[in-house]
Amino acid sequence: LMEHSTENKSRNETFMAKFANIYTPIVVISAALLAVIPPLLSGDFISNFPDWFSRALTFLVISCPCALVISIPMSFFGGLGASSKIGVLIKGSNYLENLAHLKTLVFDKTGTLTEGVFEVTALHPTQIEEDRLLHLASHVERFSSHPIAESLRAAYRKESDACSIANMVEKAGYGIQAEVNGQIVAVGNTKFMDKLDVNWKSCKKVGTIIHVAIDGIYAGHIVISDRIKPDTKDALSQLRKQGVEQFIMLTGDHEKVAERVAEELELDAYKASLLPADKVSEVEFYLSQKSLGSQLGFVGDGINDAPVLARADVGIVMGGLGSDAAIEAADVVIMDDNLSKIAQAMVIAKKTIRIANENAVFSIGTKLLVLLLASFGIANMWLAIFADVGVTVIAVLNSMRTLKV
Ligand code: ADP
Ligand code: MG
Repeated sequence: LMEHSTENKSRNETFMAKFANIYTPIVVISAALLAVIPPLLSGDFISNFPDWFSRALTFLVISCPCALVISIPMSFFGGLGASSKIGVLIKGSNYLENLAHLKTLVFDKTGTLTEGVFEVTALHPTQIEEDRLLHLASHVERFSSHPIAESLRAAYRKESDACSIANMVEKAGYGIQAEVNGQIVAVGNTKFMDKLDVNWKSCKKVGTIIHVAIDGIYAGHIVISDRIKPDTKDALSQLRKQGVEQFIMLTGDHEKVAERVAEELELDAYKASLLPADKVSEVEFYLSQKSLGSQLGFVGDGINDAPVLARADVGIVMGGLGSDAAIEAADVVIMDDNLSKIAQAMVIAKKTIRIANENAVFSIGTKLLVLLLASFGIANMWLAIFADVGVTVIAVLNSMRTLKV
């Protein structure tokens, strides 16, 4: 990942590459002209040429753009290295740059703001035994990596038995269905039940309600609940300190759970019962609302977040809990699922940009000054070499400061 990251260059770096393409030929041609034209005009070419030739060489040495072309990508590479050291993989310097200007952060709920480890709080079967309800649900979820699936499997300990499980189909944002011992068992939310034309019953308990249907007949529901990660609140306040102004939650879970989480975390807005495609259109709405130069980040974990991760200016994924598709689609991977790492990465991003700018101003400034001196005939080759190699070394040393966390 880190090797590929250099292919996604920051605006600063792309500018540098384009700049060098135009700048280098211009400087070489000017130097050649400087060596030849003035002695030709002077009338006495032979005696004036050595002097102008040496001035042209001085000019060429001073104007060499090494300092810029080397130190700016080095600063960004250092920044990427520093963030990987704290467990945040950034897939390109452009995303590092975007991180520094984050103003809006959109979160997924399950597994991002909350732990994604559900506890079964109630079993409400309609016609079968409680144990059988959990048994069937955990079987259907056997091959899913969704946090709900993992929790249901964990809740049913006697998982390995002789039951046959086949033809599993997972529908992102809805639920999952499979054939258990020849019966088609569907497990998911009310939208999934509606889709299958199952007559579901509502539940008074607060929590995520997982409905179960056997062969199209309603079999009851399982109430599970999730906790907000203990460090979420702290992470959000750190992010506010780094300049994030707006926090939004988009979730596929139902309204009641979403409202409680949003209230507890004092989020600015939330939307519940969203399908993956709805999340994309919500994020597109917020993208159209943002002001020029500010960036929108999406933080998620699931397979259903992949499209929206790709759409945001910066897609941030929980690397531990996250699905492979989400990790692939994201621009930033947080290896230990710790939300406060986003704020730390923003600090690194801001420092990197500051150092890259320092290098640009310092090297262009020094070169202009020495060129000016050279045009008056004051600068000699020694000073020219300082303006080239000396400035490069200083700028490179400065860019190495980005490596320090
Ligand atoms: P979130 O946006 O909070 O991460 P998802 O979009 O992954 O939530 O899921 C939305 C809802 O769809 C869940 O709350 C659950 O009701 C249902 N669901 C999705 N996948 C599954 C699954 N594997 N098993 C049971 N229910 C599921
Ligand atoms: Mg999720």
